[in-house]
Amino acid sequence: MGSPKQRAAARAERRELAAAALAAGCTKAVYVDQAAGRRGLESFMKKRPTSPPMRVHPCDICQAWHLTSKNVGGKKLPWDRDPDWTRPAK
Ligand SMILES: [Zn+2]
Repeated sequence: MGSPKQRAAARAERRELAAAALAAGCTKAVYVDQAAGRRGLESFMKKRPTSPPMRVHPCDICQAWHLTSKNVGGKKLPWDRDPDWTRPAK
């Protein structure tokens, strides 16, 4: 999982992202990238196995990823197809 310094940097990044998300009006849990979102999703589903199926999605409002149970009408979104998909730089 990296050195303590890297972990501290990751925590700081996440804190910054969460603060930016909150400022943008996002109150959901934030994940810095898709991989983090998927890890969060996994532990969420373990804790709440009866909850409806959830997906990770990149937020349009803040720069974070969130979990959602929103149905996308069976569409396969780029990040659902490719676990390495990253948000295009603006
Ligand atoms: Zn957001």
